[in-house]
Amino acid sequence: MELRFLGRGAAFFPSEGNTAAYIREGNRLLLLDCGETVFARLLNRGVLAGVREVYAAISHLHGDHCGSLGSLALYCFFQLGFPMTVIMPDGQDAYAADLGRLLTLFGVRDAYYRQIPAGEVKGFSAFTRFSYVPTVHDPAMTCFSFVFDTPRGGVFYSADTCRTDELAAFLSSHPQPEALYVEATDADYPGNIHLTLDRLAAAVPRAWMERTYVMHLNGPQCAQKAREMGFSIVPVDAK
Ligand SMILES: [Zn+2]
Ligand SMILES: [Zn+2]
Repeated sequence: MELRFLGRGAAFFPSEGNTAAYIREGNRLLLLDCGETVFARLLNRGVLAGVREVYAAISHLHGDHCGSLGSLALYCFFQLGFPMTVIMPDGQDAYAADLGRLLTLFGVRDAYYRQIPAGEVKGFSAFTRFSYVPTVHDPAMTCFSFVFDTPRGGVFYSADTCRTDELAAFLSSHPQPEALYVEATDADYPGNIHLTLDRLAAAVPRAWMERTYVMHLNGPQCAQKAREMGFSIVPVDAK
């Protein structure tokens, strides 16, 4: 499954763009997160050219993960001529309501977009199933990782998180994974709401280090340390 990246930075490292990935198959686009820098990069890199269906999954409501979702929804409806589809986690009505409220505040009326549960995302050849998996990041927020079941063993994608429980569960249900995409930071301090590189390394079997892609970089030193430890870094689409 080819995930392409629009950015790989953390909230306070916007020169790398907000961490966001997408799959483009024909005229369909599936987008993972839509932070403040993402809509501009979608446009500037031509990712929306010829698109007729846009699916967006949002891991949580920090601005670097959802800050330009309203602009994308309005652009789909008024410029591209179709309603964007927001993928909602199954059985998480409060989160769905928050996301809907956010779109309302952005001026996106209910008629401008549609919602579907994650279990109903179908028709992409890259994966057979897409799931939201609840995780912990800022304990006061609702946050999710994503899992793709793929013909080649499955893909785990965690934007912001402070723990490896979901990664461990994925590795036990997908013992030969295709790829792991995980946020990590080199900053370690009490109350950290992000995952340190050291804790990520402790959770990833040695054999899978190279196919573990670190993202949501908090600075250049984070990428350097991740590489030295044996991780890969996600490549970002050229401008
Ligand atoms: Zn973030
Ligand atoms: Zn966050």
